[in-house]
Amino acid sequence: MSAESPVVAVLGGGQLGWMLGLAGIPLGVRCRFLDPVPGAPASAVGPLVVGALGDERALAEVIDGADLVTYEWEGVPAEAAQSLEPRVPVRPGPRPLAVSQDRLTEKETFARLGIGVPAFAAVDDRASLDAALDRVGAPAVLKTRRGGYDGKGQHVLQSRADADAAFAALGGVPLILEELVPFTREVSVLAARGIDGEVRAFPLVENVHRDGILRVSRAPSPAVDETMQAAGEALAQQLLVDLDYVGVLAVELFECDGSLRANEMAPRVHNSGHWTIEGAETSQFEQHLRAVLGWPLGSTAPRGHAAMCNAIGALPPRDAVLAVPGARLHDYGKEPRPGRKVGHVTVVADTAHELEARLATLLELAPGTLG
Ligand code: AMP
Repeated sequence: MSAESPVVAVLGGGQLGWMLGLAGIPLGVRCRFLDPVPGAPASAVGPLVVGALGDERALAEVIDGADLVTYEWEGVPAEAAQSLEPRVPVRPGPRPLAVSQDRLTEKETFARLGIGVPAFAAVDDRASLDAALDRVGAPAVLKTRRGGYDGKGQHVLQSRADADAAFAALGGVPLILEELVPFTREVSVLAARGIDGEVRAFPLVENVHRDGILRVSRAPSPAVDETMQAAGEALAQQLLVDLDYVGVLAVELFECDGSLRANEMAPRVHNSGHWTIEGAETSQFEQHLRAVLGWPLGSTAPRGHAAMCNAIGALPPRDAVLAVPGARLHDYGKEPRPGRKVGHVTVVADTAHELEARLATLLELAPGTLG
């Protein structure tokens, strides 16, 4: 590896790639990207190879001269990551991709490691949906095993009477039925593992979703005691070790009756970790680069209190956001479209009370798009 300016090839060039590239600049890390979309957000911070993420020619081009490969999208075909391994280090490796791309394998992995999960069962045809309902009960949520994100490819069954409709909506592809967890709230844990096996976790984050999309994160999460923080860190560590993982991993969790149950994992930097740019000693993006490059991991300590709100469909008025004390705007440079994440705002404060006041001001600026 070139000691001075390592080159990191990133599969995917969306906003996560853009923020990885930005984090690399002061460290002398040069990121380059592969994305199917010309002008994808990351093209603002590094060279972009335009091509499909599984395309052999495009992959060869992006890894040419790179010290290692990482990814910012869990949809990267696991076979593509595997095909690169003999040529260049792939961190995290193809296995975390394969596990996270199949909701059944993912839940089985959690369960095998003794991590709490909602009751679940595989559904391959209409008859097995009845059998799954016998095991899981109702209400439940039927999901496609592959390809779902942000609540897409999901159908809630309030009772057995909804089985035909749910199967008609999603059937024809492998499915999983999950107990509909009566959660008190959703939280996530982000942790990094270095090449030497060191693990560092960020404080748990509280996440508010609407229509399946993350709207607001608060970090460190309110109302998390040492026991819950330790439980979150322990489950992240188990996954990182089991998957021989290098880099940042995010696990989305339900808090229910005071304990945590794992919903899904993302083998990459994550939307619920954006707060770390302003709100932690080391951002998740820098931490990921440090981990994959074999450099010492940074402190994950929070700097006061932070909240992050996604801008969905449109950016909030820039001047108004910048006038809020402690607020920072991140504009991904994407064409606004309904339902599309086009940016986010992070606000920081010294106290939880002050944070809530600033957050309330922000959320009033652009109701429906911000938060
Ligand atoms: P997912 O795509 O699995 O992250 O699901 C999107 C959102 O749907 C989650 O953030 C939850 O709000 C909700 N959800 C998904 N699975 C369940 C479940 N088993 N129980 C309750 N809510 C769920």
